Amino acid sequence: MAGTLYVVPTPIGHLGDITDRARAVLAEADFIAAEDTRVTLKLLNSLALKKPLVSYYEHNRRESGARIAARIAAGETAALVTDAGTPAISDPGEDLVALCAEQGLPVVALPGPCALVTALSVSGLPSGRFCFEGFLAMNKKSRRAHLAALRAETRTMIFYEAPHKLPHTLTDLLETLGDRRAAVCRELTKRHEEVWRTTLGAAAAHYAEHAPRGEFVLVVEGAPETPPPPPSLADAVARAQEDIAGGISLRDAARRAAERTGLPRSAVYAALVSTLSPRSGNKK
Ligand code: SAM
Repeated sequence: MAGTLYVVPTPIGHLGDITDRARAVLAEADFIAAEDTRVTLKLLNSLALKKPLVSYYEHNRRESGARIAARIAAGETAALVTDAGTPAISDPGEDLVALCAEQGLPVVALPGPCALVTALSVSGLPSGRFCFEGFLAMNKKSRRAHLAALRAETRTMIFYEAPHKLPHTLTDLLETLGDRRAAVCRELTKRHEEVWRTTLGAAAAHYAEHAPRGEFVLVVEGAPETPPPPPSLADAVARAQEDIAGGISLRDAARRAAERTGLPRSAVYAALVSTLSPRSGNKK
């Protein structure tokens, strides 16, 4: 008879957040599939457990996943854990669960710590309907496409972000979505936990001056149900003029205004040029 794959959430900071059931499943599993065996070893030590560990992470998920599924098919019980939080949520696990499901192997998920749910529940923003957006891509083009697709999103949005990318992400969110209410949730469940209920503008200004430290979840208010009118050419020209006053070249200012408003760059450029006097001396 086949065994079972248990999906086991682990604490995102506070070790007391491990559940009794998670502890029992870890204790009874034949082996534990871990994202980083060193991190999981520390957790097991804190629980006074000794278990065989196998590595299962982003870059070995195919081969390791196949081996894990074969052991489950042969009757073993596996517990899947990641470094922190719920496996398969911006963490390895999705493929292993899909593989076991495809092979008809039992999969049981335990509820437990998850940064997105913790952040949403404390954010003070509407939680009736929300969407989890994970990490924004590093690649400029995919990042822009992702953000543009969220302009009219009316549900509360949740993002994960690494500290070194947070200032850039806040600026991008502000430029794409406009100034909205947001909760910046830092180091949740840890000693220096902080929940800052603020706006994207205030958060972007703060983190442009203060280097972020720790782990962050951003919770951002959705767009109003009745969307504001789309940006006009006059809005785009006004934004470009602000940039030009700040020292940016006419061509770059037109490009940036076009990106932020979604209007064609050539139209913004032509409208901008038509506002300039022949002797204004702006560099193209
Ligand atoms: N699977 C995990 C979960 O269930 O939340 C998420 C793993 S993902 C690789 C790590 C990201 O989760 C971090 O970059 C951060 O955005 C968020 N995160 C994890 N722990 C956190 C904490 N204690 N406080 C704030 N954000 C946290």
